[in-house]
Amino acid sequence: MANHSDLQKVAAALQEAGRLLLLAHVSPDGDSLGSLLALRYVLLRHGKQVEVYVEGGVPDRYRFLPGAETVIASPGQLSELPATVVVLDCGEWERVGLQAERFAGLPVVNIDHHRTSKGLGIVNYLDSSAAATGLLLFRLFAYWQEDLDPALATCLYTAIAGDTGFFRYSNTTAEVHQVTAKLLAAGAEQALVYENLEARSWSHLKALGLVLERLASFALGKGAYSYLTAADLGRFGISVADADGFVNYPRLLMGVQVAAFLIEVEADTYKVSLRSREPVDVSAVAALLGGGGHARAAGCTIKGNIEQCMRQLEAAIHEVSNVKCCMGS
Ligand code: 5GP
Ligand code: MN
Repeated sequence: MANHSDLQKVAAALQEAGRLLLLAHVSPDGDSLGSLLALRYVLLRHGKQVEVYVEGGVPDRYRFLPGAETVIASPGQLSELPATVVVLDCGEWERVGLQAERFAGLPVVNIDHHRTSKGLGIVNYLDSSAAATGLLLFRLFAYWQEDLDPALATCLYTAIAGDTGFFRYSNTTAEVHQVTAKLLAAGAEQALVYENLEARSWSHLKALGLVLERLASFALGKGAYSYLTAADLGRFGISVADADGFVNYPRLLMGVQVAAFLIEVEADTYKVSLRSREPVDVSAVAALLGGGGHARAAGCTIKGNIEQCMRQLEAAIHEVSNVKCCMGS
């Protein structure tokens, strides 16, 4: 896994670069956006030319982040070919969007904490034991002896709070709390972050009613799932991005080892969010289905109607964990 020499190599590559393009994954979350804007902030201090690109733009709830207004949302607005590309919180070109594989020939720096990431870059700083990419950036900034200020601290706080579920998930280590204490001491706007990340729209809460009504069990009661079809999204007027967090409800059920939420993103194509309790490794389940992620939180996209998708999911869970599966509710 990550060692200090990887951190030093990444630090050196970033220091040598003049023009940088910062990228993360599509459907960006608090960790990817907080990390992108934190790194932008520090690289600007170092006198670099920096562009941040996010496919589809910054979702409303993250617009409060310092620097969010500078994020480029359409490829046409990017300036000339960047000298160095930095990929954060993501380990696959396909998840970056922007047909980003075309950057693969450029010097690429990859900083990520997904268990399924192998390293996209010439230099890579990967640590799947880290709760968030923001934590890896904190280590990098500590190595550079960067001063923390409220804007930088707020970006990093958003990254870490986002990926630890506000310090509740099992990835909330002592390091998470130690780093967070430093961010709060430096003026991270904790209440502002909480208000923005936890705020939900009317349509989200109305759709949640249906998500709860549809809760069903699978894998002999060891799993629980729910779903929304494209027609449901139309009926409630919610976007896929606005459906964020629904997987947490099947996850709440006591005794459930695997929780799944499926959302129809195109006709007969479902984006699947997976959560687990030990010992089920959902990053392995997702990887079998062409996705990836972490042991306790992962995702993938699969084809078929809801029954077909659930059968594929059960088969993959069965293969990974030897939990005998059958559909039912
Ligand atoms: P979520 O369910 O919140 O969308 O994603 C849970 C975790 O799995 C996140 O860390 C996310 O980056 C990762 N993940 C979700 N979907 C995919 C996917 O299709 N491929 C890969 N490699 N990771 C994914
Ligand atoms: Mn992350």
